[in-house]
Amino acid sequence: MQEDFYESVSKPLRNKLIFEMAKDYAFDYMDGISERHVYPKEEDLLKLKNFYEPLPQVGTDEEEILLTLHKNGSPNTLAQTGGRYYGFVNGGALPVTLAVKWLTDVWDQNSVLYVASPIAGVIEEVCERWIVDLFGLPTETAMGLVGGSSDASLCALTVARNTILERNGYNIYENGLMGAPEIRVVLSENAHATLFKALSILGIGSKNIIKVESNPDGTLRLDKLPELDEKTILILQAGNVNTGAFDQFDTLCDLANEKNAWIHIDGAFGLWAKTSKEYAYLAKGMEKATSWSVDAHKTLNVPYDCGIVLCKYRDAFCKALQANGDYIIYSGKRDGMLYTTAMSRRARSFELWATIKYLGKEGIGTLVEALCKNAKTFAERLAQLGFTILNDVVYNQVLIQYVDDEMTKCVLEYVQEDRVCWCGPTQWKGNMAIRLSVCSWATTKEDLELCIDSFKRGIEYTREKGK
Ligand SMILES: *Cc1c(COP(=O)(O)O)cnc(C)c1O
Repeated sequence: MQEDFYESVSKPLRNKLIFEMAKDYAFDYMDGISERHVYPKEEDLLKLKNFYEPLPQVGTDEEEILLTLHKNGSPNTLAQTGGRYYGFVNGGALPVTLAVKWLTDVWDQNSVLYVASPIAGVIEEVCERWIVDLFGLPTETAMGLVGGSSDASLCALTVARNTILERNGYNIYENGLMGAPEIRVVLSENAHATLFKALSILGIGSKNIIKVESNPDGTLRLDKLPELDEKTILILQAGNVNTGAFDQFDTLCDLANEKNAWIHIDGAFGLWAKTSKEYAYLAKGMEKATSWSVDAHKTLNVPYDCGIVLCKYRDAFCKALQANGDYIIYSGKRDGMLYTTAMSRRARSFELWATIKYLGKEGIGTLVEALCKNAKTFAERLAQLGFTILNDVVYNQVLIQYVDDEMTKCVLEYVQEDRVCWCGPTQWKGNMAIRLSVCSWATTKEDLELCIDSFKRGIEYTREKGK
């Protein structure tokens, strides 16, 4: 039986056919990406219904599978690797990182334990040192690689919770959460949704959370900061998802450290500011925190998915996230599963390593500066068209409004249907706004001009409609 099955699979490494096919389709896709409409067209979206077929009872040819995906799948992607996608906070993908992903996908490594993949273990360890150096963190800081900032925050806050309870004489590992001393969490009312999700998973509810009033830019108001103590987790943010603003880490970390509170920084896209000479001032003092979460798949332009969790206390980190089993062989070398909630994981370190090696510290700083410069240009040009820029464009986020909620909505509808670029709506201080996140290395001056023209047509359309 087994032999038959083996024989039934075409051996692609021998005939290479399907890999050549995938490569050709991929090149086809990449070639057109900078000219392509960003959001799928209606006629393409109709092709999605082809995927709703009954469970195949028998297998399908490899060629047909690839062709189906290319024909019906490619046109229904967002052109996120092009230069005109500004939705959410999504990074692009540097070509070298995709190439490395292709190569290492063929390796199909599991970065669970050193013995499961020495190369994945070593590269992950090297990435840890580089990241710690890049952000100027305490040298003993440990890193885990996860799916994204959501996971990263969950991991970091798990370590925070367990460590705080242990420090206060409570053994969570033995007693569990029931009957544990209360932990207080202090964060800005504008903190990211993923943090509330992580806290709720960890058994920390709204009554344990103090939401601090924020400044107009969404950052935490220093004068409203409640008393902190050794049972407090203070969560700060590098880069508000709407305004891009940064909390005042320097002052806040000093205050919190004086009281032995745990400081976690959600720096999904903002933490990278630290790598740029021009923008490092935004993240000043962030190295004084206890744990950090940051995404490589955003500002750094590593392909999905690659989140990073960092914690100053390696032992506490591994204690909170370890698992034991008769067959789990810890090596004393890099055992990746000690730093995440997962066990088996793809080796995200390969793409991260390649990106850092490709750009170097200087190049990463330059990338950050390029994104921020494009955001500033965007804001200036949109202001000239008559948009109100709602935020001080300190980083890569631009928040705009046109006259009022209704007209803003109308412009956005036009721009989204125009498909020259894609950006989404948000609510800011009770008003409807359009949010642009400039997050891809691939954005050119021409891209920005094409987008400005689209917004200009959007205004004309809105005015015409309002008559
Ligand atoms: C994107 C983002 C998150 C969530 O990160 P994922 O990688 O999507 O899990 C959390 N915080 C901020 C500030 C973000 O921008």
